[in-house]
This record gives sequence, structure tokens and C-alpha cells, in this order.
Amino acid sequence: MIGFDLTAEQKALQERAKRFSKEVILPVAAKHDRDGTFPIDVMKRAHQEGFLTPLVPKGYGGGGLGILDTCIISEELAAGCMGIYVSIFVSTLALYPIIKFGTEDQKERFLRPFCSKYTLASYCLSEVTVGSDPASMKTTALLDGDHYILNGTKMWITNGGYADFYLVFATTDPEKRHKGIISLIVPSGLEGVSHGEPIDKMGQRASNTTAMTFKNVKVPKENLLAGEGEGFKKAMAALDITRPMIGIGAVGIARAAMELATQYAKKRIQFGVPIAQHQSIQFMLADMAKDIEAARLLIWKAAWFADQGIRNSKEAAMAKAFAADTAMRVTTDAVQIYGGMGYTKWHPVEKLMRDAKVIQIYEGTAQIMRLVIARHLLQEVEKTL
Ligand SMILES: Cc1cc2nc3c(=O)[nH]c(=O)nc-3n(C[C@H](O)[C@H](O)[C@H](O)COP(=O)(O)OP(=O)(O)OC[C@H]3O[C@@H](n4cnc5c(N)ncnc54)[C@H](O)[C@@H]3O)c2cc1C
Repeated sequence: MIGFDLTAEQKALQERAKRFSKEVILPVAAKHDRDGTFPIDVMKRAHQEGFLTPLVPKGYGGGGLGILDTCIISEELAAGCMGIYVSIFVSTLALYPIIKFGTEDQKERFLRPFCSKYTLASYCLSEVTVGSDPASMKTTALLDGDHYILNGTKMWITNGGYADFYLVFATTDPEKRHKGIISLIVPSGLEGVSHGEPIDKMGQRASNTTAMTFKNVKVPKENLLAGEGEGFKKAMAALDITRPMIGIGAVGIARAAMELATQYAKKRIQFGVPIAQHQSIQFMLADMAKDIEAARLLIWKAAWFADQGIRNSKEAAMAKAFAADTAMRVTTDAVQIYGGMGYTKWHPVEKLMRDAKVIQIYEGTAQIMRLVIARHLLQEVEKTL
């Protein structure tokens, strides 16, 4: 049977995250957005709350939570500020492959310290010339005795300037395309690791995004995650888990925009009545409510599949694509409902619209999500022929 009730534990997590969002994230969100600064204090408090390590098993000091539990927390944090949420979330993107595929030694060396003291991690897949097609990556990792020698530049790395270690994808042989890709855990202190200046972005400006350069970095062989030739599969497996977690961020943004637009529509008088009484405004609000609900349910389903160990690539892509498009539509309509006021920095809806846009781009673009969905659909039909 399908149940939509949250457990008592999930309700408590939701409440805790809602409070954190309201008391810690929201009061500083506009300032970090305006200045484009990284919210270190918020991040430290998020670590104390366990929001940076929800999926890490309790045995290593983490929260031991499931993907659905984590999504419930994430919606609340993102409703406060998506840029701050994504800074929190990205560590999970880097940690998840270690949780899932790491050796005992790697878990001891990277998960345990991560939980016990404030630490950040980054996920380094994209390059300047390599976005939607990561199999064509140029960063190389060549085995030399007990070390891999890592060379290349990664682009768009969230937390790049603040991470204590990086999960870096590189190729041992570009000719092999995805079969040549490996993933390495690279501590920030190794010689030859450096980051660029923060990139000046349209939205999610509290998050720190930089290029990362790896120049003749000697990475110990013990930091190879999973085997050679396994890196690409592992990177994709991580995205199946983390796409719902980004998608739920889009739900958080959309919900915040809908709440603001509803309050404004009840107060703003035109033609002698609150604009909420005009049917076209009501229809915009109704569309927001139904799409947000649908997006949340798609995400919960994709997350629930992941928790059950059921392959969820199609569901994760559907959920992420739908939620990202919903956030874009809802925030655009929220600006519309605010009229001219929505187009200014005096009200937060313009920030929500800017923050929503990139969700259609990162963690797989809107177009790539549709390619994933269509590929699965065509394969399923083929099986029935
Ligand atoms: C703020 C921000 C944070 C990010 N954080 C990270 C991070 O932490 N780590 C990381 O590794 N990466 C990160 N990224 C990179 C992000 O994942 C890529 O930007 C994304 O994968 C798209 O790649 P691209 O920008 O190179 O676009 P491209 O791949 O060049 O795509 C350009 C356009 O072409 C379309 N397109 C491409 N191929 C096809 C196709 N086959 N069919 C149809 N359309 C297609 C795309 O959908 C898009 O519209 C981040 C990006 C941003 C903007």
C-alpha cells in the first residue's frame, strides 16, 4: 500500500530543519546573495546539526538517515535559501560515493573525520569543454608506482574554494571514453591543488563556485574509489541519489515563492479588491500549488525507490526535471503576481527566480534529463515487443 504520512521521526526532522531555515538561514540569505559571500557561520551550524552528513552511517558518526528523510530536511533548508542549501548538499554529493563504494580504510579516513569536525567536500566532474558529455573529459590520472599523477582543470566546482577534499573524476586513457574514467579522493592540502576566484553568478550567489586546477598532484593509490574503469558508473550512480535531493531544493524554492505570492495577492488592492480575488491570479496560485505537490510526490517516489535499493535513474530524472521546471515557472509567476515590485530587489521573489534557473542546468540539464527518461522509456517498450 502507498502511505503519504510522515513518521514521527520524519516530522521531527522536518520541524528541526524548518526552524534552522527560519532562524539561521533566512535572516542572512539576502545579504549573502547581494554580496556573493560564502556563509561560513551558517555552514558550521549546519554541520553541528548534522545537516552536512545525513547519509553517513551512524557507525562513522553521521545521521544514518535515508534519502527520503534527507529530502524532507532539504526542502526546508532550500526554502530558506537555495544557495546556502546547495553548499550544504554538495558534501553529500561527494560523500555518497564513498559511503556506497569506499573501502573500510577510506571510510575511516574520510567519513569519520568529516562527521567529527567541520569539513566540506566537493564533487569535480565538469570541465570547461566537458559538461553534459563527461565521458569526453580531459583531466588525466596516470599511475606511477604507488600514486596517480593528476593533471587537469575542473570547472563550476561548488564549494571549490572551501573544500577540505575533492572527489575528482579523471581519465586514465581518453581513448577509452567512460571506461577510462576513475574517481580519486584528493585532499586539498596536496601539492598542486589550487582553486580559482569565485565565479560571479546570476543566482545561488551564497554558494561558492570556482574552477579547480590539479597540476602534477600525487594522489596515493589508496585514494582510488572503486576499481579502475568503475569511476563513470559510480559517478552516475551518485547522481541517481542526489538528483532527487537537488529536485527537492527546487520544491523548497517554489514553495517559498508561492507562499510569498499568496500573501502579497491577499494584500495588494487593485480595482478596489485584493488581487487574490481576480480569477487569473487565483489560477496562477492554483497552478503553483498543484505543480509543487506533483513535484514533491515525484521526488519522494524517486527517493523511496533509492531507499529500497530499487534502480531509480528514470524516476530521479523525471523528478529532477519536473521540479526544476516547476520552480522556474512558479518563481516567474510569483514575480508576475508582485507586478513591478517583483522586478526589484526590494522583494525576495526576484532572488527566488534567479536561484531557480540553474536547477535546470546543473546535476544534468533539462535536456539531458529528458534524454535519460526517453532512453528508459524506449528500452522498456523494446522489452515488451
Ligand atoms: C552554479 C553551478 C554549479 C555547478 N556545480 C558543479 C559541481 O559542483 N561539480 C561539477 O562537476 N559540475 C558542476 N556544475 C556544472 C554543471 O553540472 C554543468 O554546467 C552541466 O552539466 C551542463 O554542462 P555545460 O554547462 O557544459 O553545458 P553543455 O553540456 O555545453 O550544454 C549546453 C546546452 O546544450 C544542451 N545539450 C548538450 N548536449 C545535448 C544533447 N545531447 N541533446 C540535447 N541538448 C544537449 C544542454 O542541455 C544545454 O542546454 C555546476 C554548474 C553551475 C552553473
